[in-house]
Parts: sequence; structure tokens; C-alpha cells
Amino acid sequence: MQLFTIFSNLTEFLDTEKQAGHKIAFIPTMGALHEGHISLIELGKKYADITVCSIYVNPSQFNNDDDLKKYPRSFDSDARLLEQVKCDVLFMPDDGEIYPPGLDTTIHLNLANLDQEMEGRFRPGHFKGMLQVVKRLLDIVHPDYLLMGQKDYQQFSLVHHMIGQLQLPVQLIIGPTIREADGLAMSSRNQRLSIEDRKCANAIYKYLLELKSQLYTIAIEHLQNDFMTALKNAGLKPEYLEIVDGFSLQKVIHPDQHECIVACVAAWVGDVRLIDNLILKGNLL
Ligand code: AMP
Repeated sequence: MQLFTIFSNLTEFLDTEKQAGHKIAFIPTMGALHEGHISLIELGKKYADITVCSIYVNPSQFNNDDDLKKYPRSFDSDARLLEQVKCDVLFMPDDGEIYPPGLDTTIHLNLANLDQEMEGRFRPGHFKGMLQVVKRLLDIVHPDYLLMGQKDYQQFSLVHHMIGQLQLPVQLIIGPTIREADGLAMSSRNQRLSIEDRKCANAIYKYLLELKSQLYTIAIEHLQNDFMTALKNAGLKPEYLEIVDGFSLQKVIHPDQHECIVACVAAWVGDVRLIDNLILKGNLL
């Protein structure tokens, strides 16, 4: 695996690969890699000749300094893991490479309210920062394929929207959420859970599955209330559970009027904030 920290060196390397006719798959991450990230590298290998993984903990998408400080960092073991799965390139830039002085990387886009609800309500500015870094990384890597996880459904929807609005020449591919044996969605944040909190964190997936089985038998409002109560009884502090259209992210009232429906949830387990989602109806974007 080749390691790059300077973007112009990476660009030079990738230009040679592209001239040789090689296709590039790109997997942006914030590190503390787990099987969810690795599944995206493996998926990228199916599409492209060269897989590029970036590790960059992007300050502009954190609305809380403490969360940024506490975000797990394990660059050495991440690099070893990527070597093992034969990732071709690891890009680990510093802030100066991503946000060089004098370069305006701000995103000016109509986000069609996709950024207003759910994560947008609880993490103001998060999505603008996320889109800013994804666009900057796409400008550096110019991949043929961009691979992202369903785990961050709203993030995926916004990146999909940005690619469409800016007509970026990249194909966005979504990878399924990889879960622990008890159903908890893998996340870099899980390692911060205490033993006790880890035990009750699986309630999120358990009650998402229950909710799916009741989609057509119980009114949406009651489904939401029941879910929030179940999570509270399990010892979690849910922030939201929204049942939304899989494309517009608008709230669903009548399930039969939508082709694709997703339930998205955020909940605190101790002092760790986790998000998850489940497709209740139809197929992904
Ligand atoms: P992060 O490092 O959390 O920014 O995540 C980098 C990429 O990995 C994003 O596209 C995430 O959606 C994806 N990802 C994170 N967790 C999982 C998971 N459990 N399964 C699949 N993809 C994931």
C-alpha cells in the first residue's frame, strides 16, 4: 500500500494510474477503522482497479469541540488493517492540505432541506462541513466511484444530491450497514461504550426491526412514540426517530404513498451518541 500525506503527490500518482486506463474507487473515512469501513474497501475492489482510502478527522463537520477531541484516532492500526485487505492507497492529509490558506472550499448549494431535519436539527452545520470535505477530497482524488455506507443515510442522501447538483463525474455506490452479532451497527464510536452501555446499545436495532414489522398495522405517530418509549425503557436517551421518504427525507404519514421508506434514529447510550437506520420499504436510491 502506498501512503500519501501531500495531495499533489497523490494526484501525480493517480494521474499515472488513470493514464494507464485504471479505474479508481474512493472511500473517505475518519479512521478508527472497523469492518464497516473494510466492507467498503472490498466493495470498491469489485468496481475498480485502484482503491483509495482517506483518513481525515474533519473539524468542520463537528459542531461540538468535545466530540472532536474525543473522536477515536488509531492511525497505526488503521494502516495495518488497510494493508491486510490490500487497499492500494492510503491518503492521510493534515488540515493544511485539505484547507490550504487562500482556497475557498465552502459549498454554496441549495440542499433542498435535506440538511434541516434529523442530524441537521441536532448537529447544526454538520452537513455543510461534511459536504465541504467530501467535495474537496473528490477534487483531489477525482475517482470513478465513491463508496459510502448506508449507516449514515442522511449523509449519503446529501452527497447524492451534491453530485447531482454539481454534475460531478463520479458514481456513488452505497454499501450495506455492517453490524455486530447482536445487531449493533458498527461505528468508531462504539469503542467508547462502557461494558454496561454496550449491552443495552443493541436495543436500537432490535426495536427498528420491530418497527418494520408494524409499518402497516400501527399509525406512524404511534410507531414513533412506541419506539422512543422502548429505547428509554432499555436505558437509552433517544434524540429522534423519524420515518422518512428514502429520497426526499420528508416525513411519511401514509406508508402506501411512498416507494422507499427509511427509519432513522439517533440515541445517546451513556455519553456516546449513536445513529442507525433501517429501510422499512423499497430499495435504496
Ligand atoms: P466515518 O469514518 O464514520 O466517517 O465513515 C466512513 C464511511 O464508512 C462512511 O461512508 C460511513 O457511512 C461508512 N460506515 C461507517 N460505519 C459503517 C458500517 N457499520 N457499515 C457500513 N459502512 C459504514
